[in-house]
Amino acid sequence: MTKWYGAIEAGGTKFVCAVSDEALEIKERVSIPTENPETTIQAVFDFFDQYALHSIGVGSFGPIDVNPTSKTYGHIMATPKPGWEGFDFVGALKNRYHVPIAWTTDVNAAAYGELHRGAAQGTNSCIYLTIGTGVGGGAVVNGQVLEGFSHPEMGHIQLKRLENDTYQGKCPYHSDCLEGLVAGPALGERTGKPGAEIEKDDAVWETQAYYIAQGLMAYTLVLSPERIILGGGVMKQAHLFPLIRESFKKQMADYVVTPDLEDYIVPTGLGDNSGITGCLLLAMEAK
Ligand code: ADP
Ligand code: ZN
Repeated sequence: MTKWYGAIEAGGTKFVCAVSDEALEIKERVSIPTENPETTIQAVFDFFDQYALHSIGVGSFGPIDVNPTSKTYGHIMATPKPGWEGFDFVGALKNRYHVPIAWTTDVNAAAYGELHRGAAQGTNSCIYLTIGTGVGGGAVVNGQVLEGFSHPEMGHIQLKRLENDTYQGKCPYHSDCLEGLVAGPALGERTGKPGAEIEKDDAVWETQAYYIAQGLMAYTLVLSPERIILGGGVMKQAHLFPLIRESFKKQMADYVVTPDLEDYIVPTGLGDNSGITGCLLLAMEAK
């Protein structure tokens, strides 16, 4: 009999749910708009109720509580998304399905998917950074997703500013952290147009590359991952990759000898499927 595994990639705009067999062959997937928790989770139930699931893997937008010793393990934490703060996500799934549930951030799940099936195959460690509506990073270290008392928040590190950069930044908490300086909305504010419409020769791309490279340098110095994978809407600008590598090389100043930058700072191998793939893999290992 086929064993079915469930996966949820829970994002701020949509939930992608999938069911696969043991070979990771996807049997069915759906995309559900993120509304209030009750409506959204009911649609998730309607989908999964069709299967006798063996386990479920969830990669969620955050911040979330991933600490198994915490009273609020499995909950969504402080979020501006109406109704979601304090939602007991894992609890709702457990009550319905009584199966093992893997629970981590969307970006940790994506890093895990990329490590096993995507651009970081053959390694034991990688970082997955998405640069989209926000900036978020996940990591796999020694084959395991990286969590501590909580989960990494790589998008919110502080950076050294370019001297001539007067843009105040857009993070509601820190103004000019990495997310505040380079996420899609910041790019939009800097230029007055959506990222997708900015000319390739616009000077803003050098600015983007400088800050992103500075972030990658910090991650490299702290975690020494074998590969860094960049995804998200803003990274659809493929010409950013060489700019980021060049700036990274300059800023690192030959201090750490990284793998060849072409193989070190790379696009996703799974495109939009990194997260859901990671969730399925985590489901298979859930106990
Ligand atoms: P989310 O982060 O919400 O999951 P995305 O990763 O698609 O979604 O990121 C959306 C952001 O990326 C928006 O701010 C959008 O302006 C920006 N974006 C989308 N496509 C492009 C593109 N081709 N070039 C630059 N920016 C883009
Ligand atoms: Zn911030």
